[in-house]
Amino acid sequence: MTHSPANDSLNPTAVRLDIPALSRSVHGKPLVYLDNAATTPRPKAVIEAMNRYEMEYPANVHRGVHTLSGEATHAYEDARRRIASFLGADSLVFTRGATEAINLVANAWGTCHLKEGDEVLISALEHHANIVPWQMLSATCGCVLKVADVDDAGELHVETVLDAISEKTRLIAMTGVSNALGTVTPIANICEAAKARGITTLVDGAQMVPHMSVDFAALGCDFFTFSGHKMYGPTGIGGLLAGKDTLDNMPPWQGGGDMIETVSFEGSTWNTVPWKFEAGTPNIGGAIGLGAAVDWLSNIGMENIAAREKNLLDNMVNRLDGIERVEIVGRPANRSGAISFLIEGMHPADVGAMLDRHGVAIRAGHHCAQPILHRMGHQSTARLAPAFFNTEDEMETTEAAIRRVIDVFG
Ligand code: PMP
Repeated sequence: MTHSPANDSLNPTAVRLDIPALSRSVHGKPLVYLDNAATTPRPKAVIEAMNRYEMEYPANVHRGVHTLSGEATHAYEDARRRIASFLGADSLVFTRGATEAINLVANAWGTCHLKEGDEVLISALEHHANIVPWQMLSATCGCVLKVADVDDAGELHVETVLDAISEKTRLIAMTGVSNALGTVTPIANICEAAKARGITTLVDGAQMVPHMSVDFAALGCDFFTFSGHKMYGPTGIGGLLAGKDTLDNMPPWQGGGDMIETVSFEGSTWNTVPWKFEAGTPNIGGAIGLGAAVDWLSNIGMENIAAREKNLLDNMVNRLDGIERVEIVGRPANRSGAISFLIEGMHPADVGAMLDRHGVAIRAGHHCAQPILHRMGHQSTARLAPAFFNTEDEMETTEAAIRRVIDVFG
């Protein structure tokens, strides 16, 4: 389905018809899917593109001389081109997702560009995927992990980041949107400040890409990482954006087929980028599915999506604020994707399980971001993560379900 680019044109009823899983019920209730920060459901266009690969040309890429392999190679490389262009980049390295992309940078870039005492600066908001790889790197190369704190509302300020920069800072690796609190960080300003100081930047874009228009070239970072399954594509596929020069100056991090130019027992030479970083048979069907996802998103329009999601988030925050015993955790001025909350006297896991009985699917736990939850004074929260296909009626159903949970629990 196609929408005109006007901001108010997004019709959730029509969009919902594109996504088969949204029409199912759970415990006899219509599904209200509010776990989009964990993963987004797949539209038919994605499922069908992957099916076509499996049914019509299930061949390996790059190596084959036969027709099916040629078709698979064309579809895989064409998906790369469309996904890169959707994100304002010339090309991309396919990975399993944001986690693998960050690990790629830590291993391939970090091991040869960082030495003992060099500082990697992250923020307090980071997902474990943008914390642990740097800790592992620090154990091998002696680099030091530093953290820019947030304020009590869960907001990251450029000034705090600037204060945390020292003459030893070599890399700033930060998220564009917090998956736990929904904070939109001033990432473009941070990248600009880093660039002016000659510091390399990595933006964890896993929670940006599904919610806003991303232009890698305009953002001005050196590395940008994302996951397909959070942007209506399949699991097991995602990518790394980086300039050709940057990638050319990094050694490969995994060895095997496809990433080489020549191999002998005496030594090997490397393929050009991006293939130098794609050892072994890639997730061909996944890449093709992700290509279909970005076509689908482009048709709907990221501006339309952002405008609609802002309305839904405001709607839900107002509803939660009106419920006694509910506390919203994190009050960022600019919110995207997620609302963390607590019900006084109840464990978030119980809240999640009880809402599930009402058909409302949410996430409860530490959201793979334990440090920010501790910073906010908690071990875990319940998280509502609406997307543009959700409706105002579903926000009302969710409020009613939360009120019911509180009544029943007492
Ligand atoms: N960064 C952020 C901000 C995320 O929300 C996630 C997924 N929750 C990741 C990184 C890791 O993504 P994946 O598990 O798809 O690699």
